[in-house]
Amino acid sequence: MSLTAGVVAVQGDVEEHAAAIERAAAARDREVAVREIRESGLVPDCDLLAMPGGESTTISRLIRDEGIAPEIRNHVAAGKPLLATCAGLIVASSDPNDDRVDQLDLLDVGVERNAFGRQKDSFEAPLEVDGLDDPYPAVFIRAPAIDSVGDAEVLATWDDRPVAVRQGSVVGTSFHPELTPDSRIHGLAFFENEAAAVPDVESSR
Ligand code: GLN
Repeated sequence: MSLTAGVVAVQGDVEEHAAAIERAAAARDREVAVREIRESGLVPDCDLLAMPGGESTTISRLIRDEGIAPEIRNHVAAGKPLLATCAGLIVASSDPNDDRVDQLDLLDVGVERNAFGRQKDSFEAPLEVDGLDDPYPAVFIRAPAIDSVGDAEVLATWDDRPVAVRQGSVVGTSFHPELTPDSRIHGLAFFENEAAAVPDVESSR
């Protein structure tokens, strides 16, 4: 069966995430239709979801005002996969350390916004990621660091700080996995996470 993917599209690299989802699915001979999520009512039909970077204050406000936030919570409560990247990670966290961010509380981590910012606004690092055989070329742009970890599992660290975590069906990264042709992080989040339910080829609906 064909999968339905949603990319939260209030801000950020929406097309790049859509393309990465398509590459990750194609690598597994799966068909996927990607929808951009700007309003409520679409998330319930999605088998998997990506929440891109951008500005966490803006994203959290818009998904709340549009009624998308509770739908994302329900998606995760149903065990469906969510990949939250950069600002998306901040929004998905349990503690954004910033009152202007209305967090979703889906990943039990505290984050520090713009922790890798200022002097090195953007850089690429070869990251060892749990579950991947070779280093992943991770692009960091005004990236948050994870400064406390509760129930989540750390998948990667950079500079001694966690930069990729997983909790159940949710994967969060400080970096931007949509900005390289390498779709292994999308693959890990959507197809290789045993805690996440993606309908298999045989099932019908
Ligand atoms: N600095 C942004 C924030 O704190 C995140 C940056 C990004 O998503 N590239 O919301």
